[in-house]
Amino acid sequence: MAEMSRDELESALQKYVGQEIGKPWVAKDPVNVAMIRHFCAAVGDTNPVYLDAAAGERSVHGALVAPPTMMDAWTMPGMGAAWVHSEGEPQDRQVELHRLLSENGYTGVVATNQEQEYERYLRPGDRLTAHIVFDAISEQKATPLGIGYFITTKYTFLDQNQERVGSMSFRVLKYKPAQQTQPVAEDGKPAAPSKPRRIRPPMGHDNAWWWNAVKEGELRIQRCASCGTLRHPPRPMCSVCRSVEWDSIVSSGKGTLHSHTVLHHPKFPGFDYPVICALVDLEEGTRIVSNIIDCTPEELKIDMPLTLTFEKVDDEMILPLFRPAK
Ligand SMILES: [Zn+2]
Repeated sequence: MAEMSRDELESALQKYVGQEIGKPWVAKDPVNVAMIRHFCAAVGDTNPVYLDAAAGERSVHGALVAPPTMMDAWTMPGMGAAWVHSEGEPQDRQVELHRLLSENGYTGVVATNQEQEYERYLRPGDRLTAHIVFDAISEQKATPLGIGYFITTKYTFLDQNQERVGSMSFRVLKYKPAQQTQPVAEDGKPAAPSKPRRIRPPMGHDNAWWWNAVKEGELRIQRCASCGTLRHPPRPMCSVCRSVEWDSIVSSGKGTLHSHTVLHHPKFPGFDYPVICALVDLEEGTRIVSNIIDCTPEELKIDMPLTLTFEKVDDEMILPLFRPAK
């Protein structure tokens, strides 16, 4: 299919604004104690008004309530239900809109913002419905990922009495992955393309020292100068004694695999996929997020011993990565 001109595409996009994306999402289950308990366990929330019926009764709520941040979880249809099964159904305009952009080269998608507003606490037995509308589609924007359009959807959550309990604004960027321009050698022929650069990590006053040490081939761990507690990533204050005095030690580079996830999509420039993203327990007692190299996803085992290695991942950036220990 031929790509549309930018004007044609943008006028097609604007027709979606104000429309419902499709049928409202009706919660498959009412708000319930079991899911609240799982959610609290997953995020480490121990507030008794979410977990203990007696504590809920004694509280200002007069009963056990759900964490407000679970609001959108109650109506989520699941990955398959939202995207795959609705493929081809004309009433799902979200699928249609994303397909239109993909066909015009905007194949990448990344979620960028989520804001929620709550009108009341939810209680077990509440049954939610989400009405979802395309709230805004931006003009074409240039971003580090490539040019693209920000799509904002507005969710309005109603309870079983059709009363509003909250709302959510959810924004994604649908983008055309940035192309590497082909370098030209002195003889005018195309030279070998250089490897795309990775997105730069945020670097500032509180962590520049750590990255400078990485450049020198050292993995440093910040240490509280008052109580000796180690901490990572770098930050200004000790969470144990609140001292702002600190120094650092050099890690031995020995660690074990605490947890991991394997990234396949979306594909960002500068990475070799699949990417193994790992949480590594360093033997000094702190944890670090890194990638594991020289290892297939099938070879990963929780608690496997890992060794630090410094790798030049593009023309200038050096990262502390890990590989299985021999
Ligand atoms: Zn301290």
